[in-house]
Amino acid sequence: MTSVAPAKKLVIIGSGIIGLCSAFHLLRQDWEITIVSSDPADDTTACGSAGAIAIAQVFPASEPGLGLKVPRWLLDPLGPLSIRPGHMPKLMGWLVKFLAAGTSARVEASTRALASLMAPARNHHFELIKEINAQHLLRQNGNLWLYHSERSRNKDAKQWAMRKQLGIKFSAVNKEQILEREPALGPGAHCGYFIPDWCHYIDPQALLANLADYLRNAGVTFVQDTVGGFEFVDERPVAALGENGSKFKFDACLVAAGAHSARLSAQLGDSFPLESERGYNTMLPSTGLDIKTYLTFEEHFVLTPMARGLRIGGAAEFAGLDAPPNYARSKALLKLARRYLPDLNDEGGTQWMGHRPSTPDSLPVISRSTEFSNIYYGFGHGHIGLTLGPTTGRLLSQLIGEDTPDIPLSPFGIDRYS
Ligand SMILES: Cc1cc2nc3c(=O)[nH]c(=O)nc-3n(C[C@H](O)[C@H](O)[C@H](O)COP(=O)(O)OP(=O)(O)OC[C@H]3O[C@@H](n4cnc5c(N)ncnc54)[C@H](O)[C@@H]3O)c2cc1C
Repeated sequence: MTSVAPAKKLVIIGSGIIGLCSAFHLLRQDWEITIVSSDPADDTTACGSAGAIAIAQVFPASEPGLGLKVPRWLLDPLGPLSIRPGHMPKLMGWLVKFLAAGTSARVEASTRALASLMAPARNHHFELIKEINAQHLLRQNGNLWLYHSERSRNKDAKQWAMRKQLGIKFSAVNKEQILEREPALGPGAHCGYFIPDWCHYIDPQALLANLADYLRNAGVTFVQDTVGGFEFVDERPVAALGENGSKFKFDACLVAAGAHSARLSAQLGDSFPLESERGYNTMLPSTGLDIKTYLTFEEHFVLTPMARGLRIGGAAEFAGLDAPPNYARSKALLKLARRYLPDLNDEGGTQWMGHRPSTPDSLPVISRSTEFSNIYYGFGHGHIGLTLGPTTGRLLSQLIGEDTPDIPLSPFGIDRYS
C-alpha cells in the first residue's frame, strides 16, 4: 500500500488582492492553504479603489524636482497631498528615502522595473476573470487623460515620450474629440490623451468577493483573525499567532498584509520602510450623467463609471495607520470634479478611505525573506495593487514553488533598504 504524504501547510496573511491572487496561482501546487485576515476579502483596499487596470502607471511617485512642488501642494486645500503634522516625526525616515529615490537614474531604473510588471498585467487579469467567471465586471473602454491647456500637457511631455518608448499605446485628443467621447465633460477639459488598453472594473468589491468564493470552493480555508506575531522552533518560524490565542501552523508563510506588512516582516528579521498613503473616494449613486470612460485629471484625481454610480478617487494623505479618516479630502475631490462636470448631482454620496501600502521607490516587495527560507513577502504595491495583483500572485507562486519567475525579481527584494 502506498501512503500519500499530507499536503504542506501554507498560511497567507491578508485577504486583499495580493493575498487572494497568490492563493489563486498557488492552487496549482500541492499546498493546504489557509488565509488569515483581519478583514474579509470584500472589505479590503482594492474594494474602494478606482478599479483601474492602470497599464500606463509606470512612473514612481518620487521624481526630480518634486521637492519644489511639495510645499505648494501642501498649502493648497484642493492639492493632491497632505501630511498630518503629528505623523511627521514617524514619516521623516521614509520621506528621506522617498526623496532620494527621485534622482533621474533611480527613476529610470524604477520605471523599467514597474514596466516589466505592467507589461503582462492586463492579460493576467483576463486569465483570472475568465477562470473565476467574472468577465462581466470588466470594461475595456480606455482612459481619457485630461489637461486644462497645452501648456500643462507639455509639462508631462517627458513621461508620455517614455510611455511611447515602452510600447504603451495612446493617441493625442483635442477638445472636440474629448467631447465626442464624453459629452458630459464641461469646458475644463482642453486636451489630453486616450489610452485604449486601459480597463476598469465596474465593481471591484464584487471581483474580490467572486475570487474569494472561487478559492473557498477550491478548498482554501479563510479565517478572520489578526496575526500579532510568530512562533519559532529551533529559531525557525513555524506558526502565525492570532490575537485571540489561535495558532496557524505552517510549512511556509506569505505576508500579504498590505500597509500593515512591515509590522509583521520586522518580527521576522526584515525591516522595511513602508508607509500608509491614505487615499479617499466618494461614490455618487445618481449623478445624472452618462460617463463611460475612465477619466484621469491633471490635478491627480480620477473618475470611474461603476455599476453603482460614479466614483471620484484620489488624494495622498500621510497620517499613519491608526488616525481617523479626514473626509475633507473626499470633499476636496468632489470640488475638483465640479470644475469638469458642473452639472454633477452629488446627492446620496458616500465617502471612503483606504491605505495604499507605499514604498519609497514605488516598487512592490515580491521576495523571499532574507532570514528564513519558508517566509515570503508580497506587499507595497502603492497605487497599482489592483492592477498588479494577478501578476504578483503568479510571481510569488513561482518563487514559492521554486520555479524561475517570469520576470527578474531583483528590483523587488525585501533587502533593498537594509
Ligand atoms: C483611493 C484608492 C484608489 C486606488 N485605485 C487603484 C486603481 O485604480 N488601480 C490599482 O491598481 N490600484 C489602486 N489602488 C491601490 C490598491 O487598492 C492597493 O495597492 C491594493 O488594494 C493593496 O492590496 P493588498 O492586498 O496589498 O493590501 P490590502 O487590500 O490592504 O489587504 C491587506 C490584508 O491584510 C489584512 N491584514 C493586515 N494586517 C493583518 C494582520 N496583522 N493579521 C491578519 N491580517 C492582516 C487586512 O485585513 C487585509 O485583508 C487604490 C488605492 C486607494 C486607496
